[in-house]
Amino acid sequence: MESKTDSNGKVKIYLADLVHNYVGRGPFMFPINIGYVKSYLQKFHSDNLDVRLFKYPNKLIEAVENEPPNMVAFSNYTWNEDLDAKLIYHFKNRFPNIVTAIGGPNVNIHPRNVHEELENIDPRSLTNFLRNQPNLDFYVLLKGEFGFLNLVNSYLQNDHDIKKMKSSPIDGLAFINNKLSLDKIIRGKDPPLWRNLDEVPSPYLTGVMDEFFLQKLIPNLETDRGCPYPCTFCDWGQALYQKMEVFPKDRVMNELEYIVDMVNKTKNTKILCIPNANFGIMEQDLDYARKIRELSDKHGYPRKVTTFWAKNKSKRIIEMAEILGGDLVSVDASLQSMNPKTLEAVKRDNISQKDYLEFLTYLNKNGIDSDAELIYGLPEETRESYLGALRKLFDMRAGMMLNYHCRVLNGSEMSEPDNLEKYGTKTKFRLIDIQFGEYSLDSKPFKAFEVEEMVKSNNTMSEEDIFYFRKLHWLVNFTWNYKYYRGLLEYGLSHHVNPIDFYNTFTENLSKAPKRIVKLVKEFDEESKSEWFLTREELVEHYSKPENFKDIQNGSFDKLHFKYGFKTLLECPDEFDFYMGQVAKDLISRKDVKVDYKKAVDELIKFENMFRISFKNLDISKEFEVETEKFGEFGYDILRWKQNAYEGSLHGHDMKQNVKYRFYLPQNQVDSLKTYINQFKNINPLFTLRKMSEYMGVSDLFYRVESKDIKDYKMQVENHVLHTSKLAQ
Ligand code: SF4
Repeated sequence: MESKTDSNGKVKIYLADLVHNYVGRGPFMFPINIGYVKSYLQKFHSDNLDVRLFKYPNKLIEAVENEPPNMVAFSNYTWNEDLDAKLIYHFKNRFPNIVTAIGGPNVNIHPRNVHEELENIDPRSLTNFLRNQPNLDFYVLLKGEFGFLNLVNSYLQNDHDIKKMKSSPIDGLAFINNKLSLDKIIRGKDPPLWRNLDEVPSPYLTGVMDEFFLQKLIPNLETDRGCPYPCTFCDWGQALYQKMEVFPKDRVMNELEYIVDMVNKTKNTKILCIPNANFGIMEQDLDYARKIRELSDKHGYPRKVTTFWAKNKSKRIIEMAEILGGDLVSVDASLQSMNPKTLEAVKRDNISQKDYLEFLTYLNKNGIDSDAELIYGLPEETRESYLGALRKLFDMRAGMMLNYHCRVLNGSEMSEPDNLEKYGTKTKFRLIDIQFGEYSLDSKPFKAFEVEEMVKSNNTMSEEDIFYFRKLHWLVNFTWNYKYYRGLLEYGLSHHVNPIDFYNTFTENLSKAPKRIVKLVKEFDEESKSEWFLTREELVEHYSKPENFKDIQNGSFDKLHFKYGFKTLLECPDEFDFYMGQVAKDLISRKDVKVDYKKAVDELIKFENMFRISFKNLDISKEFEVETEKFGEFGYDILRWKQNAYEGSLHGHDMKQNVKYRFYLPQNQVDSLKTYINQFKNINPLFTLRKMSEYMGVSDLFYRVESKDIKDYKMQVENHVLHTSKLAQ
């Protein structure tokens, strides 16, 4: 039986920010979004509400079955939209009096999409979203706290009667009242701007987030909200999100201390996320950087900070990067494209490219690490223009090259029919990494699959170009970003061999590669082509078949550029070493080089091999064991060359007598690796390595090295946090 309130007379509300934890753990975040909603509700209703938060589907299902709530509401995004829709459908069927609500940027809520004739309505519009989910009562517009409080107030004022609630507009909410308006939505006013976000009490300082420190999740903390830019491919770029709001500084400082204190007690993570759209855009962000550095130095946490940096680079960003240092952060240059036509088409031409490039040069000179982000598949981008950008960034020694495949996000301007048509954008559908599962409600099982809609071609880039960049991205990610062959590629650059030529030769000369490498590349090609579907329905039908579902349960579906990097390390590292060396020698031999490049290449390969931690025998059922010390002799002082950020020629470091290196792992690094493996333990070693590597510092994957003259070399200038998706949950 449904109860109107619980035994204490309180209205029971379940708020969910779900991720599928069906096949394993990803870099899942604290559900801070619903934490803010809860702390805001408590401010006005301290006595009459019982609000509970949920991150994992089965816990929510169990709670709804055992103690049906008065309301259940979901934070909705691409990684949980199917799950949310199915749960709403089933919950409402089982308990018709439950009020259901959803919020989040995954819907186009721009007012221009609201009151049009039905036949002209954008398929991704709010109207269609509501129309397609008859069991969904309310959509919460923009910031959830405002609309959700109004929803609760309306529920209380209307004696828990949903029909009465829907008799007139409610500010911050949209809904369909079939009786009143057929298919048209009723939409209240949008939430007001809060210049001072202290209107919403801190979910950390009020203890709302405490329960999540006991789980293996990453704490995240907003210091402001909004983004002033209008990028068409991003759902933050909706005009409605473009005003900035800030949290008070003293509150953020207290929150940082609170988080560090709690993590040090529970020891479940080493990572902190600041999910602002533009960290560094506000003056006070500099003080937050100082505070994070101080806390990290004093308490050993955070060991990694992941964030999204401000776009127009100012002195402040440089100062913040210097304070935080390469061990805690890498600073990204979110270029997305270097093609002026593309930048204009996606409305990013107001972000200075010149600043970016100067910024990159400054960071490199000062040994501070940097990411350069590009997106392939944007309007007006061609294969040549994209490769031109990559070549330039390699020549400038960007620390890490992040090549994102363009995803069409439902709430973005790019997803609107006019925009798709203008640039000839065609899409295909792909399962989102580990975001699927099978659940059961009222003993009835159901499956949910989350899907991403990716650009497969447009007027300027073909489907073949997209596949070309997929493979290129794997090689860039493994050899340059993860640093497994960074020394070798730097050596190539010193002989004017751009890594792009290296990767092209790698894939074009496969007839000369060891059989295992040929097989690896073939597998990559097949897998990258087999993961696409023309429609969502086709995808769901495919993965719903028992044999295919079993396959993905066993971890067969992965982010390929990560999967194939670790597959190489686990299955054929020596063959890959050999072939990389062969490609390097072939390309350098064409350059009229007088030095003994063959010896240099062999030495570099030997060094890279000893430098990396081997996970070949990783057994995730046992405690991680690793060789903590080993020695090697080299004819070139490669360590000195690396320490000098590859300045000058390696041949200037040719030694008369071999130089001896000690490769070793300090205990705190071994402990960190154990924590990462434990936090991201999945069904097999490949899956575990891949997930843990998404957010850890790359330097933790390598030995420290010392020689007679150089003590404690760590990848100071090469130390990155890899975050595979800026929207990762
Ligand atoms: S891509 Fe970045 S800068 Fe552009 S709208 Fe989104 S968050 Fe803002």
